[in-house]
Amino acid sequence: MNLAQSLRKILGPGIVASDEPTLTAHAKDRWFASRQPDVVVLAKKRAHVEKTLRFASEHRIPVTTRGAGYGYVGGCVPSHGGIVLSVAPMNRIVEINTADGVAVVEPGVITGDLQDAVRKLGWFYPPDPASLRDCSIGGNIATNAGGPRCLKYGVTRNYVLGLEVVIDDGRELNCGGRTHKNKQGFDLIGNFVGSEGLLGVVTKATLRILPHPPARSTLAASFRTFREAADAVQRIFAAGYLPSALEIADPFTLKSAREYLGREITPGAKSLVLVELDGHEKSVRSETTDLKKRIDAMGAIAVLTAHGDEQCEKLWGLRRAYSASLKATGLTKLNEDIVVPRGKLVELAEFGERLAKKHDFPVACFGHAGDGNIHVNIMAANYHEQPKIKAAVDRALDELFKWVLKAGGVITGEHGIGLAKKRWWPLAVNETGRDIHAALKRAYDPKGILNPGKFVG
Ligand SMILES: Cc1cc2nc3c(=O)[nH]c(=O)nc-3n(C[C@H](O)[C@H](O)[C@H](O)COP(=O)(O)OP(=O)(O)OC[C@H]3O[C@@H](n4cnc5c(N)ncnc54)[C@H](O)[C@@H]3O)c2cc1C
Repeated sequence: MNLAQSLRKILGPGIVASDEPTLTAHAKDRWFASRQPDVVVLAKKRAHVEKTLRFASEHRIPVTTRGAGYGYVGGCVPSHGGIVLSVAPMNRIVEINTADGVAVVEPGVITGDLQDAVRKLGWFYPPDPASLRDCSIGGNIATNAGGPRCLKYGVTRNYVLGLEVVIDDGRELNCGGRTHKNKQGFDLIGNFVGSEGLLGVVTKATLRILPHPPARSTLAASFRTFREAADAVQRIFAAGYLPSALEIADPFTLKSAREYLGREITPGAKSLVLVELDGHEKSVRSETTDLKKRIDAMGAIAVLTAHGDEQCEKLWGLRRAYSASLKATGLTKLNEDIVVPRGKLVELAEFGERLAKKHDFPVACFGHAGDGNIHVNIMAANYHEQPKIKAAVDRALDELFKWVLKAGGVITGEHGIGLAKKRWWPLAVNETGRDIHAALKRAYDPKGILNPGKFVG
């Protein structure tokens, strides 16, 4: 009996697929790497996950968990073949309980759908990766996803109160619960958040939700240089403001966005800072007026302000177009999500300029200035066609990551290590750190069947 037949016998009809289109559809995510699994399990309930892992553990078959397949680092690519365990069909919002401030969800729920469902009740699930209309809560947990709002509200980890996880041989592990504080034992939730499918399969999550702030405003501040824009970021904090988002963009990004959108939102801007404030109507309006005055005094060329969802989204339209407009240049966009201590933003941009000059390709920087989490995009022509371009990009990435680590930063703040950053893992984490990772991997997955070929095991 082959693998698909054996699994069908255990799981029943309609759960196991081995046809070519399904195998191809589960071979890659949004990065470049690709490998077909031998079989795909489309789990509809926890029992399917348990039975699959029990069988795989017994026969030492690799299992790679997949959410929506919207990762950026090849995390759900089955590098060693075997089983892709898709939890996408487990997509029920089990409960939203505003009295307890929790939502209980299956892992395949799309992040934006959860946000919409809680919003209808006047509540708020803040983590906002740009991919939120496509990616899943399970994937967000496994990568500790974040976005612009994480400056004020924190990343996915800050919203996970409880997890139901199935580990190596099909055992169920429950971590945390539905209380907003919990100090019973070690922080096992922290082991799983950001674990990239290497330690277990999340089958249910209890998430913290917040009352939705009733009002918001956005300020779009144009500056002549990136340095002036980065200085403004520091001065906004120094003035006592903790915006819900604080985003920056460099000249190359803004130029591409203007060409892509065919219009100027921010006349004359060489660099742009977007600031979002939220709270109650009166305080948001008075803070916006005060902050505009302060940013004017910081030497901004222009500061546009907007109130309410409709107006604010018009200003955010520019920000949301950055990625697409860089792709529309026709160059290959190699998006790195490094983080530096916030005080090093200007040095990072200057390093990006030196890198661009040295290797003769543009480098576009934009992102979450408030967190120091900047998307450094190497923009390469003929990347896939010419091996020598790819080699030059690899050299530039080596230099970038070395610089970032020396500056006290990290090589990924959002997307994870996956396959894309595996090469730099030993550079980023020292031997003791790597040993502890390996020991945790052995504790949860002694046979090494979960997502093998990635950064641990
Ligand atoms: C256009 C675009 C924009 C993006 N913007 C952002 C952004 O702003 N912020 C950000 O943080 N990320 C961003 N990402 C990256 C990506 O969307 C996130 O990493 C997201 O969390 C992936 O979720 P997914 O459901 O697609 O996971 P997948 O790609 O399916 O899997 C990602 C990893 O999680 C593991 N995994 C998935 N589900 C489970 C589970 N139930 N249990 C255990 N392990 C699991 C997989 O094995 C894999 O290692 C972006 C990606 C794209 C393509």
